[in-house]
Amino acid sequence: MYHRAKKSLGQNFLKSAKALSDIIIAGEINKNDIILEIGPGKGALTEKLLEHAGKVIAIEKDTGLVIHLKEQFEKEIENDRLELIEGDVLDFGPKILKKPYKIIANIPYNITGAILKQFLSGIHQPERMVLLVQKEVAERIVARDGNESILSLSVKAYGTPKIISKVPARYFNPAPKVDSAIIAITNITRANFKNTQEEQLFFTIVKAGFAHKRKMLLSNLKESLPHVEWSTLFEKNNIPKTIRAEKVPLEIWLTLIEQI
Ligand code: SAM
Repeated sequence: MYHRAKKSLGQNFLKSAKALSDIIIAGEINKNDIILEIGPGKGALTEKLLEHAGKVIAIEKDTGLVIHLKEQFEKEIENDRLELIEGDVLDFGPKILKKPYKIIANIPYNITGAILKQFLSGIHQPERMVLLVQKEVAERIVARDGNESILSLSVKAYGTPKIISKVPARYFNPAPKVDSAIIAITNITRANFKNTQEEQLFFTIVKAGFAHKRKMLLSNLKESLPHVEWSTLFEKNNIPKTIRAEKVPLEIWLTLIEQI
């Protein structure tokens, strides 16, 4: 099949058996699992998912690829083991799935943040996510260097992110400019929040805390939310007043929202 890869749709097709196998193992897939695959592309990962899962639901935006996938997986579509949806994943969201599901995908990199937000904070969260993302983004999410960000905190608020393995650019066709990494997000829940107000407050405060990079957390918070007694809250919780937002772990942000 000839297909000219579209940059605008983040089309970098995986050609590494090792990476495919790492993704499948990290998914801990069994025959009862429903998998949502975002961007099946030419079907390399879809094929492996179908070998291990009960059912695969795949959403692909590129009409040309959908036509090809329909031919390639004619039998599986007929048996209802594969549901192929043509469209933009961001128009669907978690509401298309009623039963428990896992997201396992080599996603278009330009919508990584939107996908994480949509599915982690959506009403019907996946049980687990295994995603192939830019290496740098994966590293920023896990923040092993101790530098948290809005991105890392937004993921950790809902689950446990872990880098499974690095995937060099040459393992794709066409090769992207940067290396990639497989990231797994497990233990997905919204148990950190008592209700939606608390969940919204978390994001308001995290965004306020990171508003000005050079400023300390306390002054950022005071500036955006002046009605809160921030200095007293910091003292009560033994939070250094000179700390910067990136040095504050998730637990402290959660303590703060509980006390406001
Ligand atoms: N899964 C294939 C693989 O591993 O080789 C392809 C991965 S490629 C990085 C991303 C895929 O997502 C492409 O097939 C692209 O057409 C598709 N895509 C891009 N934007 C999309 C969107 N908004 N919704 C659904 N699919 C999208």
